[in-house]
Amino acid sequence: MAGPFATSRRPSGLRPIGLLTLRGAALHSWYMTEIFAGSFTQQDPLPQEALDAAMAVLGHGRIHRYNVAEGETAEAALLEQDFAVLTGARYCLAVASGGYAMTTALRAVGIGHGDKVLSNAFTLAPVPGAIAAVGAEPVFVGVTEDLTIDLNDLEAKADQARVLLLSHMRGHICDMDRLMAICDAAGITVIEDCAHTMGAAWRGVASGRHGRVGCYSMQTYKHVNSGEGGFLITDDEEIAARAILMSGSYMLYERHLASPAPEVFERFKYDMPNISGRMDNLRAAILRPQIARLDEQVARWNDRYRALENGLRGTPGLAVIDRPEHEAYVGSSIQVLLLDWAVDRIREVVSRCAARGVELKWFGANEPVGFTSKYDQWRYAASEPMPASDRILAGLLDMRVPLSFSLDDCALIARIIRAEVGAVYQTGPA
Ligand SMILES: *Cc1c(COP(=O)(O)O)cnc(C)c1O
Repeated sequence: MAGPFATSRRPSGLRPIGLLTLRGAALHSWYMTEIFAGSFTQQDPLPQEALDAAMAVLGHGRIHRYNVAEGETAEAALLEQDFAVLTGARYCLAVASGGYAMTTALRAVGIGHGDKVLSNAFTLAPVPGAIAAVGAEPVFVGVTEDLTIDLNDLEAKADQARVLLLSHMRGHICDMDRLMAICDAAGITVIEDCAHTMGAAWRGVASGRHGRVGCYSMQTYKHVNSGEGGFLITDDEEIAARAILMSGSYMLYERHLASPAPEVFERFKYDMPNISGRMDNLRAAILRPQIARLDEQVARWNDRYRALENGLRGTPGLAVIDRPEHEAYVGSSIQVLLLDWAVDRIREVVSRCAARGVELKWFGANEPVGFTSKYDQWRYAASEPMPASDRILAGLLDMRVPLSFSLDDCALIARIIRAEVGAVYQTGPA
């Protein structure tokens, strides 16, 4: 596996390797160690089918989802049907973003101004943002060393809210059997944020199908790419009807396919405000071929994830996250813990990796940077100090795994992280 210039057993440092270019590694200078020259933000191009489908929509100009020719079914309605079939949900609504799917789900289960909503302390900003958008307040639940929601903390706080917005943050799925038992016993409605688990499952059941509602994102950095987009799935006809009415259906709900019967809409149509956030036919057209090959993409992500994990496992001072037996994950990002390391030393690891082309995100930073921020930086939402979660977040490093990485790239990146963590670790106890 390791190339001729692998550094894993040797202390990191400057060594002559001559004027060479490895695949995925560019020459840095004539006596430097190997570096990674790839991009952490470069996406795969869309499949040709998606390009053709987009051109067809652009060619006829009926981009608005309710603008259909005689006898035509809109791409947006077909997309919803495709995703309902894929997940086994009765109803599916495609919308403008993942954040919109979550706010719509919260409104559709009756959450509004002043209500409390249980949610993860470890997640990304759109999750507390969705709660704030409906005028509600998050009650943060802690994170464990498995990077999943702390179920003991959830149990302790179960009487504080009647809805849980559960974020499967970075694709880590908690023990869903225990979570649902806790929530069912306490009468808590579960909305799943599956922005990082589209294509994943717990005990063979698709992520998003355990709770009452599942929400997904089709934003460029997620598992399918339409720039922006979201799905909401549910088996509950009343939630589905409310969500479709709210999303801006102008009473054209009969043009949906994965939707309840018209009588269900009749019950709610005078009570639901129109809060436009529709999917359009152009984005739907480029999503359908991607949904059709999601499984194939998941396999490619997991090959890359395992190459990284294998290269990192056993690094002194670094813990990889063991994945539970019942979890079928999508390795579109990888996390490691430098638990109980001093802040300065973690910063040093991050900057040494960055100098070698490896971009690690750190959840322990004092200021929100890029995608990473933490619960006590969302000042619009009150929070109590959570020392056990702070300890985890302080040591948490995170890296995206774009499909544009080759398996050799992944092995190289793992060698770089291993070497730099090793170099800092060797300099003494944290
Ligand atoms: C991306 C993301 C969302 C949804 O985000 P949008 O940008 O609104 O599509 C929700 N939750 C998490 C954890 C995310 O990373």
